[in-house]
Amino acid sequence: MKILSGLTQSELEQLTDNLGASRFRARQIHNWIYLKSVKSIDEMTDLSVKFRDELKKSAVVSDTKIKVKQVSSDGTIKYLLEYPDGECVETVLMRFDNRANLTACVSSQVGCAVNCTFCATGKRGFIRNLTYKEIIEQVLTIQRDTGLKVTNVVFMGQGEPLLNLDNVLKAMEMFNEDFQIGARRLTVSTSGIIPQMIKLADLDMQSTLALSLHAPNHDIRLKLMPVESKYNMDELHKALKYYVDKTGRRITIEYLLIKDLNDTIDSAKQLAQYLKDIKCNINLIPYNPTEKNDYKRPSNNSIMKFKSLMEHSGKKVTVRLERGADIDAACGQLRGKVDTVK
Ligand code: SAH
Ligand code: SF4
Repeated sequence: MKILSGLTQSELEQLTDNLGASRFRARQIHNWIYLKSVKSIDEMTDLSVKFRDELKKSAVVSDTKIKVKQVSSDGTIKYLLEYPDGECVETVLMRFDNRANLTACVSSQVGCAVNCTFCATGKRGFIRNLTYKEIIEQVLTIQRDTGLKVTNVVFMGQGEPLLNLDNVLKAMEMFNEDFQIGARRLTVSTSGIIPQMIKLADLDMQSTLALSLHAPNHDIRLKLMPVESKYNMDELHKALKYYVDKTGRRITIEYLLIKDLNDTIDSAKQLAQYLKDIKCNINLIPYNPTEKNDYKRPSNNSIMKFKSLMEHSGKKVTVRLERGADIDAACGQLRGKVDTVK
């Protein structure tokens, strides 16, 4: 059986050619899959019943299942998807105040090898890469299930996108061309895999790159993220400069705030110094609790204090709204399992 989701226009044309149908049919199927997001071939009502029956003999829309769907009190929806081999990942749909903006947070891998100490995904270890089809399938699932069109995609679910770069780039190309989501509405978040950051710079990527920095100095970062022993903050600084110079784009610096660990005035000063000559926005992420560690979320007061210190250094600073924490859909809480009693 052919799976229609994930096929490009020219692949769909091959399919209609094989069925002896005109290429206009391929265009129609393409629209039904990516823009109108139907669940079945029967819903493709501008195709003749005869052609639909023909198509159904050799193709289905999707082979991915929604295993669990949870809706948060703030409207965030978390899906646990199951691929045909039985592996599962989460994908999250966030609606912000402005209802026209629908952001999908997609996974790029099952599990993650980077093993940051604060992250539930990292605790699972690395299972496998997702193919580009499995990545875009997450957005298609959301669109099919809600009947809404996703407008923004962030690679902030399970996995380190830059360790699965070919599939991530291909998925981004399809988001752009097939889903008609503008490049600037796509964000890739990385723990700082330097060679691939350089590659993105050389590709002149027009989407947003977000770096999970999370620390003001080497020692603190090493405690939080083992990747610091391979790609340290000095090297990262050079890579950030290279990226900004090459692409002309502003980078987003993600900074996890953990009580008494990296939320102090001293930390804010060191961070400001580190970012002094980097064109960036700063996104502060108050720590979301995950199982089995001693980290704590700072008080709102210290979050605001940290924010204003960074603003004084001349940066634009936002605090990431916590979305979907009641259903473990917030940053760092994805672990690819059905939730059991905690
Ligand atoms: N692997 C990539 C993208 C996925 S994680 C990366 O690390 O950048 C998306 C963001 O959620 C990252 O900035 C990550 O550091 C953050 N995150 C992980 N665990 C978290 C937690 N417990 N609380 C808040 N943010 C967390
Ligand atoms: Fe992997 Fe990102 Fe989690 Fe670190 S924070 S373990 S890089 S998913």
